[in-house]
Amino acid sequence: TPTSRLDKLLANMGYASRREIQLLAKNGRIRLDGAPRPRADERISLTPDLETRLVVDGEALDPLPGFILMLNKPLGVTCSHKEAGPLVYDLLPPRWRRRDPALSTVGRLDKETSGLLLMTDDGALLHRIISPSRHVPKRYRATLARPMTGTEAALFSAGTLMLEGETKPLAPAELEIVGPQEALLAVHEGRYHQVRRMFAAAGNHVETLHREAVGALTLPADLEPGHLRRLTLADVDAIF
Ligand code: URA
Repeated sequence: TPTSRLDKLLANMGYASRREIQLLAKNGRIRLDGAPRPRADERISLTPDLETRLVVDGEALDPLPGFILMLNKPLGVTCSHKEAGPLVYDLLPPRWRRRDPALSTVGRLDKETSGLLLMTDDGALLHRIISPSRHVPKRYRATLARPMTGTEAALFSAGTLMLEGETKPLAPAELEIVGPQEALLAVHEGRYHQVRRMFAAAGNHVETLHREAVGALTLPADLEPGHLRRLTLADVDAIF
């Protein structure tokens, strides 16, 4: 089990500066198993149960480093600091925005795409999910400007579709028709504007796009837009 100095742990989790945490500890405001821990320079074991045992100012501890959460990303919010507009990071509790390592999105959704977005501070897990070789399927619900023609499923599943400006064909993707202008599409890559460009290649236009699932992990029906939820171990397993 890794260990950490108490002041360093809490500073990196965004609570306060190390200096301020030393003062909190001295003033009895940091407790472990109910007892005050006055020395912020003590090393503690980072076991998962620390989240319930370590209490700062009477409040349960934030997630320890190495966690993953899902967000129901609303429309109009961006995943990229380079784009204008509110960021998905603005939807996090303020303290979580000060963490080191920082939370980052697992891949990206367009500003005008809603739905399941994963975020983590765990670099290894991040790469495991977005690695192209894992082929984790991502399922989108798209509504279209025009009725489909009936040729789309074959076009998308062929493994030969070439998007404009690219040199490598898309891997096969599975289309499920929901209605004349509504479909579910599962893709195994994460190319730029991929779903929108696929329907454009089929002569159509995506009007709304919503991600419903990553692997077998689906967006819970009761998770409102803009809300987030920490993933359980079973949720993480469902991704792969
Ligand atoms: N495909 C897109 O075109 N946009 C997204 O946000 C995700 C997949």
